[in-house]
Order: sequence, then structure tokens, then C-alpha cells
Amino acid sequence: MNVPMQDHRAPDFPELTLPLFADLKKVFANETGRVFMYPSSGTGAWEAAISNTLNRGDRVLMSRFGQFSHLWAAMARRLGLDVICIDREWGEGVPLEDYARHLAEDKTIKGVFACHNETATGVTSNIASVRRVMDEAGSDALLFVDAVSSLASIPFEQEAWGVDLAVTGSQKGLMMPPGMSMLGVSAKALEAHKSSTMPRCYFSFEDMRTSNDLGYFPYTPSTPMLHGLRCSLDLLFDEGLPQVFQRHHRLAEGVRRGVNALGLSLCALHPQWYSDTVTAIRTPEGVDAAEVCRIGFYRYRTSFGAGLSKVAGTVFRIGHLGHLNEVMCLAALASAEMSLADAGAKVELGAGVAAAQDYYRSATTALEADPGPQGGAS
Ligand SMILES: *Cc1c(COP(=O)(O)O)cnc(C)c1O
Repeated sequence: MNVPMQDHRAPDFPELTLPLFADLKKVFANETGRVFMYPSSGTGAWEAAISNTLNRGDRVLMSRFGQFSHLWAAMARRLGLDVICIDREWGEGVPLEDYARHLAEDKTIKGVFACHNETATGVTSNIASVRRVMDEAGSDALLFVDAVSSLASIPFEQEAWGVDLAVTGSQKGLMMPPGMSMLGVSAKALEAHKSSTMPRCYFSFEDMRTSNDLGYFPYTPSTPMLHGLRCSLDLLFDEGLPQVFQRHHRLAEGVRRGVNALGLSLCALHPQWYSDTVTAIRTPEGVDAAEVCRIGFYRYRTSFGAGLSKVAGTVFRIGHLGHLNEVMCLAALASAEMSLADAGAKVELGAGVAAAQDYYRSATTALEADPGPQGGAS
């Protein structure tokens, strides 16, 4: 990203940008739609998805079971949508039966929303099933998915799952600094854009499309971020997306076994929802999770994810997505053990690390292979 200042109207600029659009489509697994890039955090692409495809007063179906699903629902209300929001316990995922019931009873629903990976609770929902429920109800609504902490880390199939708007950001699985969002848009959503009347300007699909087709942007893009994205995509394709997904699963499983060996439980309430990109851990009765985070940060120089909102004080999180390997996860577990013990939890030092080590020894097979982008990291 540390490149000299560049002219974003120069004749050679599309040589950088056009392959980025094409390669991002591969990451979304979106063949017939397109991908937009905005100089905003993920929240900007949430707004772009709504304001470009819906109309004020449209009825939409959403669910809330963590801080991120909560925030998108709050945004939808503030933008003037008629939101049916189903509240579930934090630790559960998208409530498919409730979605099925609402979609069967109410044919006016224009948008169905799902948070693929709820980062606050470490819960992954099954998006293919959301689409199946919509199809079974004969719904022609658009499917909106928050894939910010899932894309490029766990399998995501925009086209196969019938996702119309797929939101992501630069700072999670794409391993970049924060400040850029990407939005995968289906052909159906591009069609819906034509008749949607919500006000939009900076995020307009139409303005973007016209410039993007030629490899340019309607305003100054963040050129360093575009170079960062090039590197990120090269890392992902060099390792191979299926291998990237396997690595995340392996790393996550080791962390979960470590947590289990410490006698702690996850915020995610059922294995079907366990996230391979973040593990949210409940602290034992009487142990303040915020204190675990403070100790981790100041004493052991480890930034654990704090418990957000409803689970503040009772949950802390280990993020395990992106440029990461087994040894890094062991370090996180070791620091968690020390921080928990210092905060008053009765944990046996080394028990979590040992369980993860056992698992990694059995699950990590490559001996001769080039260690690749994850090798030698420390
Ligand atoms: C990080 C994240 C976001 C994006 O938030 P920004 O701070 O705007 O980048 C949205 N949804 C989920 C699930 C996230 O993990």
C-alpha cells in the first residue's frame, strides 16, 4: 500500500482496477452480478445496499441476536423501512421457522435480511437455508446478507445461495486496514435499483456503474486501499480459497477445544452456529469479562474482543480470521488462560493450550509444503 501518489484519472489506472472487480467477484462467487467498492467502513455498504434497491416504507424482515444484526436493523428503521424484527437470544442465529411463518403470511415483504456471521456472539447462520425458506414461501423479496466477518474466511456463495446484496468490509477476512467496503450485487438487485426511489448520491449504484465499467470511480478512490486489495486477493488465491476456508475451520476448532478444556462455554448456544472466524467465550460466574480484556491488554499485550452491549462483562472474544496460523491461536489461548486466572477464574494453566496443541498436531498435515503466506509468521 505504500506506493507513491497516483493519478486516479490516468490512462493506465484501469490496469489496477479492472482485475480487482473481476477477482472480487470470484471471492463473492458472484458471476452474473457485479461488485462495488466504497471508501467507507462496512456500515457504508449496509446503507448502499438498502438505499439503492428499496423504497421508503417497504416492509422488510430482519432478526436481531447480537450487536451487528442489531445495528443493521436500527439503520433500516432510520432509513424509513417498515421493519419486522425478530429478537432472539444472543447466542442463537437466524430464526428460520419464524422467517418461514412471516413469509408465508405476508406477501408484501420486499427484503429479507440475515447476518451471516454475528461477530459479537460468534454465531454463523446458514444462508442457503434462508434462501430455501424464501423459495418455499414463494417470496420474491431481495435477500440482504451481512458477510463482513465471513467473506474470504468461510465458504460464501453469493450466486448459488441467491444472495442479492452481500456486504463486506476491508478489515476482516480481506486482511486490510479498515476504510473500504465491498458490496456484491446480483442481477436481480441491479434490476430493482432501476425502480427504487430512496435518496442516494455518494453510494449510487448508477454513478458507480458508469465509471466502474471503464475502470474509474465517480470520485477519488483510496488508491492505497486498492493496492492493498490487490495484495490481499493475491494472498487468498495463492493459498486457494478452499484451503483458506479449511485453515479457518482448523484454527477455530483448536480454539474451541481449548476453551472447552478450560471448562468454559461459548456464547454460541449450539454447535450448528459455531463460528470459524471468531469465538465468543462466556466467563465463569463472578468473573468480569471486561477485566479479562483489561488484563490481557495491559499485562499480556493481547487485544481480546470485548463483550458488546447485552453481553458486556460476561463475554470476551478471540478473533481468528485472516493472516493467522496455529501458533498464533495457541498464543491467544495462553494469554486468555493467564488473563482469566488473574481475573479470578479457576482455570488450569496450560489445559486449553494443550487441548489445542493435541488437535493441531492431528489436524495439521503439511510437512514438506511451502509454508506459504501463513508460514514463518510470529
Ligand atoms: C465488522 C462488522 C461490520 C462492519 O462494521 P464497520 O465498523 O462499519 O466496518 C458489520 N457487520 C459485522 C458482522 C461485522 O463483523
